[in-house]
Amino acid sequence: MRRKLAAGNWKMNGLRAALSEIEALAPKAAAAPGCDVLICPPATLIAPAVTAATGSEVMIGGQDCHAEASGAHTGDISGLMLRDAGASHVILGHSERREDHGERSEDVHAKVEAAWNADLIAIICVGESLDQREAQNTLDIVGAQMSLSIPDGVTGLNTVIAYEPVWAIGTGKVPTTDQIGEVHDFMRARLERRFGAGVGRSVRLLYGGSVKASNAGEIFRVSNVDGALVGGASLKAAEFGGIIEALA
Ligand code: 13P
Repeated sequence: MRRKLAAGNWKMNGLRAALSEIEALAPKAAAAPGCDVLICPPATLIAPAVTAATGSEVMIGGQDCHAEASGAHTGDISGLMLRDAGASHVILGHSERREDHGERSEDVHAKVEAAWNADLIAIICVGESLDQREAQNTLDIVGAQMSLSIPDGVTGLNTVIAYEPVWAIGTGKVPTTDQIGEVHDFMRARLERRFGAGVGRSVRLLYGGSVKASNAGEIFRVSNVDGALVGGASLKAAEFGGIIEALA
């Protein structure tokens, strides 16, 4: 009942030459009708990426937005601006934003509301550090991040949650399928408890952290994994295409 989602987070990577990768994704997305395909390029490429994706199933998103719609915030971008540029989604609360920019879950909460107001689908990221996992605090951390980052008003259409253990991002280290399943089942139960079974079961849950074409199949067989948020392996259409294929 939940559509699969393969989401690529290009982070601070990509010059205009990389738009050809988005064009090359079109046939791969067309061959996977059961799977949504999203690329979140850097802000400078959003508008041309929307043009490059025109006529294809590939959707384009942002990597962050400000909590306000406009104003005196040098260097920031609002949800409304992302929407105006043709984006459909925005990643919020990524651990790199939490770390590099001191974003707290309360800030993420405000950004999610701004994203919804701009008609964007929010992809809210949560996940524990290595220290937190080793101290066996993973579920407490993820639970607290969910409580504080996710506003009331969630629906299966306006929100996606991504579980990204910080220690698995860009490291080649992937949790075991049991570890992923434990967190995803926990997240599903939390959503059902807070928002009711109907909404709780309709929100898609992505796994992120060192996903590649070669490990995607195994990860996607885990219960309550509805897709992936992919960093490095989303930069090349050939590799990301393998991940889409594993989901389709
Ligand atoms: P990698 O796939 O490069 O580990 O990055 C994951 C990530 O942070 C996606 O948001």
